[in-house]
Amino acid sequence: MSERFSFELKATDGVARTGVISTPRGAICTPAFMPVGTAGTVKAMMPESVRETGADILLGNTYHLMLRPGADRIERLGGLHRFMNWPRPILTDSGGFQVMSLAGLRKLTEHGVTFKSHIDGSKHELTPERSMEVQRLLGSDIVMCFDECPALPATEAAVAESMRLSMRWAARSKDAFGDRPGHALFGIMQGGVTRDLREESAEALREIGFDGYAIGGLAVGEGQAAMFGVLDYATGFLPEDRPRYLMGVGKPDDIVGAVKRGVDMMDCVLPSRSGRTGQVFTRRGVVNIKNARHADDPRPLDELCGCPACRNYSRAYLHHVFRSHEIISSMLLTWHNLHYFQEIMAGMRDAIAEGRFAAWEEEFHATRAIGDIEPV
Ligand SMILES: [Zn+2]
Repeated sequence: MSERFSFELKATDGVARTGVISTPRGAICTPAFMPVGTAGTVKAMMPESVRETGADILLGNTYHLMLRPGADRIERLGGLHRFMNWPRPILTDSGGFQVMSLAGLRKLTEHGVTFKSHIDGSKHELTPERSMEVQRLLGSDIVMCFDECPALPATEAAVAESMRLSMRWAARSKDAFGDRPGHALFGIMQGGVTRDLREESAEALREIGFDGYAIGGLAVGEGQAAMFGVLDYATGFLPEDRPRYLMGVGKPDDIVGAVKRGVDMMDCVLPSRSGRTGQVFTRRGVVNIKNARHADDPRPLDELCGCPACRNYSRAYLHHVFRSHEIISSMLLTWHNLHYFQEIMAGMRDAIAEGRFAAWEEEFHATRAIGDIEPV
């Protein structure tokens, strides 16, 4: 196993890429989808089961873990991998995004952000230095720079000011991260939907130098067309030989469109969260298992899917346990959704390696367009 963090590009097809990120805790085949293990668990899933869906890496949330159970406690207990029984790579976010979306009474200065916990109202501070320390205590393999996420809607001037603050914080993050062989630090490009700001941000990050580069500030309500519009040029501002991570994306067609535009890594709560609300992603589009049409349906969700929910249970059963609020409903639907997302990633990796991504993408969209099977 590799002792250092590295990225090897294996093949490209158009702008789409496939490769392998090597870390001391295992390899990550790209393009990669990272399930979100917010508070030390991918909700409703055992870590072994998450691995069975095909995930090489999980995302952990710094904000949640530092507040509860606390980064020092996790460190004393052997680090996040041991604590949550996931021996493979973990990427942690910086905490910045969730401070903006969850915490109360925030105060933002050049130094950092002070805020009150949404759990118990206790006061905390996150700075680039503190975020690096917390992510080190957690034992994260891929550490994210601490950045600022402007509240939307924002003027271009406000987006520019916020981006420049994030670039100053990126430099402080790099200094505080130091030299940690086997661990990676990713910079985060900001700049909203303005091409010049995206370019300026990418240049600032390349100047500092990172192991990988994230594209932040998208998937925050701008819509798919605007997001793809930014990705059309933004990935080209980043170094070819480093992984590119699009944060917080997305729906299956968002993921495919991002990979088409040169993205290597993504994360999203969507497959797991939707699994708990009865929303199922299939090759033929979205199925709402709570709908009455499934009550007498003996067929699987997707007859071609190899996940336990599809192999061993009928739509009628999945409908029943969802309507009855049984815990197995969240377990099975989350498993299916994560399995389907990883199947998309594996399909894209193979297609890119074999130079047939365009044909794969066409079939992906054509199958979705057919829609769900007819009711019984
Ligand atoms: Zn399935």
